[in-house]
Amino acid sequence: MPTAAEILHRWPKTELHLHLEGTISPETLWSLAARNHVALPVGSLAELRALYAFEHFGKFVELWLAMCACLRTPADYEEMVDGFVAECRRQNIRYVEAHFTPYNHERFGFGGRRALDIVSRRLEASEATGGPVVRLITDIPSESVPVSGPFTATLLEEEANPLVVAIGLGGPEDGFPRTLVTPYFDRARRAGYHAVAHAGETGGAEHVREAVLELGARRVQHGVRAVDDPAVVALLAERDICCDVALTSNTLLTCFKELPTHPIRALRAAGVPVTLSTDDPPFFGTDLSREYALAHTQVGLSLDELWQINLNGLRYGLAETGLRRRLMLEFEALNAAS
Ligand SMILES: [Zn+2]
Repeated sequence: MPTAAEILHRWPKTELHLHLEGTISPETLWSLAARNHVALPVGSLAELRALYAFEHFGKFVELWLAMCACLRTPADYEEMVDGFVAECRRQNIRYVEAHFTPYNHERFGFGGRRALDIVSRRLEASEATGGPVVRLITDIPSESVPVSGPFTATLLEEEANPLVVAIGLGGPEDGFPRTLVTPYFDRARRAGYHAVAHAGETGGAEHVREAVLELGARRVQHGVRAVDDPAVVALLAERDICCDVALTSNTLLTCFKELPTHPIRALRAAGVPVTLSTDDPPFFGTDLSREYALAHTQVGLSLDELWQINLNGLRYGLAETGLRRRLMLEFEALNAAS
């Protein structure tokens, strides 16, 4: 008799809230930095591993930017994608919407469009050879909106990259109202893209309201602080806006330290759809199978409830309808056979 953890690991899975740059392991980053002669803020691999176990968002951003600076050649980007794809295959993750931040790669000199192009081609090659199916969300980092906003909106208007489904908003929340990016989100939506936004993680329920009402977000990454304001929870439920929840990430970066009382239960009880994701797996010492296992053992969600949450990744995913339908049939057939 397989354990629940084994069943969850084996399920075909979806993940809608993951940052591609945030999948780089300390080992890969260490070798990239050595190969490209980039100075890291640490002197050894052991210290780098310790830096990954960060305690606050500021340290996280510092490491994040160091990581972007280490990606110098096309082969580096391909190595990042290959590591991510291997993890998806190991855990049977079949559909992913990954955030990717072209502006940061522009900022460090490689070229945002060039980086996006290399990543897309590598992902298309992996899809053609067994998957996963990956679609991209090009996000604006909140801390650099005056430059990254127009850069990202123009990129989306001018590029017809078939993997990109949405514009997103990442970076820190504190001190950065979601409305900073309204004009750039308007431009992206006019160019035919969906909109999603990080909100209600380290910022309050008001950010979730702004993401929905001002940015036209179809999904919110995290969204958990919405529970501070019943009117915002009601707004999410009424508009059927899905929250892409990352449990372990929340226990490390937000006030929600205890999983048995995590807001995911309150959101679901109020009729708000949710998905489960890792956000940045090596930074949080987790993977998607573990997140599902935690949701089962710590939050108390049943396997049936978790299967519906898993299917939400296809219901609320932003890829074309035919593709999501094909994956839905594949998931149902595999579930029936197991
Ligand atoms: Zn995130």
